[in-house]
Amino acid sequence: MTRPTRALINWSHFRHNYQLAKSGVSGKAYAVIKANGYGHGLVNCARALSSADGFAVACVDEALALREAGIRRPLVVLQGAYDAHEWTLAAEHKIQLVVHHRKQLQDRASATLSQPVGVWLKINSGMNRLGFRVSEADDILALISADEQLELRYVISHFSSADEWQSPVLAAQLDTLYSRDWPVPLSISNSAGLLTEKRINNELVAEGLSRPGIMLYGSSPLNYKSTAELGLKAVMSLESQLISTHDVPAGETVGYGGDWTAERDTRVGVVAIGYGDGYPRHAPAGTPVLVDGVECPLIGRVSMDMITVDLTDHPHAQIGSPVELWGEHLSVDRIAELCGTISYELFCQLTPRVKRVAR
Ligand code: PLP
Repeated sequence: MTRPTRALINWSHFRHNYQLAKSGVSGKAYAVIKANGYGHGLVNCARALSSADGFAVACVDEALALREAGIRRPLVVLQGAYDAHEWTLAAEHKIQLVVHHRKQLQDRASATLSQPVGVWLKINSGMNRLGFRVSEADDILALISADEQLELRYVISHFSSADEWQSPVLAAQLDTLYSRDWPVPLSISNSAGLLTEKRINNELVAEGLSRPGIMLYGSSPLNYKSTAELGLKAVMSLESQLISTHDVPAGETVGYGGDWTAERDTRVGVVAIGYGDGYPRHAPAGTPVLVDGVECPLIGRVSMDMITVDLTDHPHAQIGSPVELWGEHLSVDRIAELCGTISYELFCQLTPRVKRVAR
């Protein structure tokens, strides 16, 4: 038998979540599948959404991997080209590029393009990460329209706090974007933007293009609403098995550093997963682990290849008992919160040792 640790991927849930992202908005939605499809598998994400309006990735390499796998849907690279050669590749493979810096237009000038490249103009509306200020936009728009090999498709911007719909920062970003007319539609909403109560939903997404990411994977982008409340379905279930059980008398410690002490005679279960698989090393004692569907608390420190759980209140558990670390029965958002992180990081840090298997 091979190691039982795997990530089961429910592609019908992925499609359901994409449909949910599109419901109620008339505009297009590019599925954000960068960083290996948030750990779910880049190419398989694209194959699962074969009729998506398009896909967004972070870098040209990711876009090329999709093209090489035969994906023909529209693609946009959110960080744009890093150099002139990437402009040439983008033209050759029909990849749209975000333009966020003048240096990219200089690179374009020294690149030979076999056909026009679709570009998205990135506006920094307040996130202060990538993009041009609105005051620079006319200048850049003129440079783009003077270049016959560039086709402006969208004006794109990103919110710093779309999950906090009452945030003054979000209101200021919207005001900045609305402070003028744009020659092409806007692309501004991520998952939180699509799901929040804010006016974004009614005023912008309707005609523009949205870029849902985390919601497609069945995690809530809003800390005040659960996936169930939003109608999202978990896509990844991280599973393993018990590989050992044993009894530890009260007073003894379990695991590295001996910093977890049994307060009662404890039946300990060992699960074949650790930080070498991407299970968070800082998961605190008490983090729930489902053994045969029963919540058992994590005890002791997370090791590279194993974790230990308290089975005392689940006496029927035995070697081979199925374990879920997060997924369809245990919300990834709950685990992320206990670990002081976000589901994005938990998904992305799953290592290649964990096989991704279609459910
Ligand atoms: N658009 C851009 C520019 C992003 O960087 C991201 C994610 O990092 C997204 C959209 C998708 O965001 P979310 O996963 O929160 O929906």
